[in-house]
Parts: sequence; C-alpha cells; structure tokens
Amino acid sequence: MSLIDLLQTVPAAFVVMCLILGLMVGSFLNVVIHRLPKMMERGWQQQCAELLQNNAGDNPSHPAGEPAPPYNLMVPGSACPHCNHAISAWENIPIISYLLLRGKCRGCGAAISPRYPIIEAISGMLCGFAAWHFGFGLAAAGALLLIWALLALTAIDFDTQLLPDDITLPLLWTGLLFNLFGVLTDLPSAVMGAIVGYLALWSVYWLFKLTTGKEGMGYGDFKLLAALGAWMGWQMLPLIILLSSLVGAVVGITLIVALKHGRNIPIPFGPYLAGGGVIALFWGQTLTQGYLQLLAMP
Ligand SMILES: [Zn+2]
Repeated sequence: MSLIDLLQTVPAAFVVMCLILGLMVGSFLNVVIHRLPKMMERGWQQQCAELLQNNAGDNPSHPAGEPAPPYNLMVPGSACPHCNHAISAWENIPIISYLLLRGKCRGCGAAISPRYPIIEAISGMLCGFAAWHFGFGLAAAGALLLIWALLALTAIDFDTQLLPDDITLPLLWTGLLFNLFGVLTDLPSAVMGAIVGYLALWSVYWLFKLTTGKEGMGYGDFKLLAALGAWMGWQMLPLIILLSSLVGAVVGITLIVALKHGRNIPIPFGPYLAGGGVIALFWGQTLTQGYLQLLAMP
C-alpha cells in the first residue's frame, strides 16, 4: 500500500498528516509574519534612497551606500532577538520546543512570545479540521493554502495594519486557478467573486470617504475580499461581509469600552474578513441555505 493509497483510504491518516503539516507550516508562518513587513519596509527605504540618489546626480553628499546584508524568509537563520542565540533545529519543533524550553530562550532566558506556539497550534488544528471536513483531494489542498494565507494576513494586519500584496494577490490567482477545475465553486462564480468582492469594499470605502472625509479601510481589504470571492464564489460574499462586520463590531465595541481604545484609532478589518472567510469556507453552504430559507418563510 503506497502512502497515497493510505491517505486516500484511511481518513484518520490524512487528518494526522495535515495536522502535522499545519504545525510545520505554522512555524514558517511565524517567520513570514515577523519578516515580511520588515522586508517591505527595507524595500521602500531602498527605493526612496535610489530616488534621492538619482535626483542628487553626482552630488557627493549622497554616496552610494554599502549593499545591505541579505534579509529574506530564509536568510539570516532564526535567532533570539535579545541575545542573537542561533535557534537550532531541535529548538524549532512546533509547540514541543516551546514546552521543552518552558517558553524561554536557551541562551539568555528571555521569554519567547506565546504567539509562536499559538499560531502553530491554530494552523495545525485548522489544517487537521480541513482534512476531516473535505477529505483527501484538491479541496483540502486548496483549504490548507487559504488557511495559511489568511493566518499570515491576520497577524500581519494586526501588527502593522498592512495586508501585503505579496500574499493577497497570489491568493487571488490561486483561487481562480483551483476553481478553473471547479474545486470549491465554478469558474464564472469565482471570477464574479473576485470582481464583486473588490468593488463591494471599494464602493463602501469611497462612500465613507466622501461622506465623512475619513478612510475606513485600506486597499488591502478590497484585495483580500476579492481573493475570498475568487476562492468561494460571489454567492459567499454577503455572508463573509456579514460575519466579519458582526465579529468586528463586537470586538471593536469591546475594545472601545474595555480598554478606552479611542474611537478614532484604526482597528484593522483584515482579521475579521479572514475570520469570516474561514467560517464561510467550512460552513458557508449550510449558513447560506439557512438564511435563504429564513427569507423564503412566509
Ligand atoms: Zn536569547
């Protein structure tokens, strides 16, 4: 019996494999969440420096800088931010290492943020659940990709109020690619989902801006909803918007009341869209049928 046969015929084996894969990718997502915003910032700084240099011509007060050391998702290797202690492979096992190290760096004893094992655990559990929900096949593979992207976007938006194009745009294209084969919805629904998803929030943005002069959300939010539409079809968009607004309102009001969080401090919308997206991925069909039945009641 080959591995593929095993995964196909024994659902528990597929669930366990996806759970372990989810834990390992969760560990990599921590790197993406930490480094991608810094990489974007470095890119912008470099572009600004180049622009200034070009404008300055041969002005010696703007000498060509030393090339910066490489900084990407692979290089440099993971290290403790406090003492630079290089993190070895056994200190990098999802969740287990955190527990073995009792949440402290082996070099300097500084506390390791519990966010690392939490992200790994959420990724592992959602991937295991997706495997159980969809069973062996392309739908589960698509669900895993979607979950990983949404998890990274949620944490990055929470930290920096940015939803990087480097994640939202490939997520949109992959959604269309999967649905070219009708994995989660048919292709016309996916294409309409991408267009309507973008335009829905784009129009809310402009309506809000023209009436209040404020920016309620960012272009990243439009692209994220477009990506969710590409994955799940336009039919899921009302549900996703409804769910994310509900959760957003509850969390937002709680923050304002409990933490005296100023009403004008922007609260990122991306995490709520992502949360609404995950709920729609698993229970969208059931929920949509439910509310259509409610509407049809006399
Ligand atoms: Zn350390």
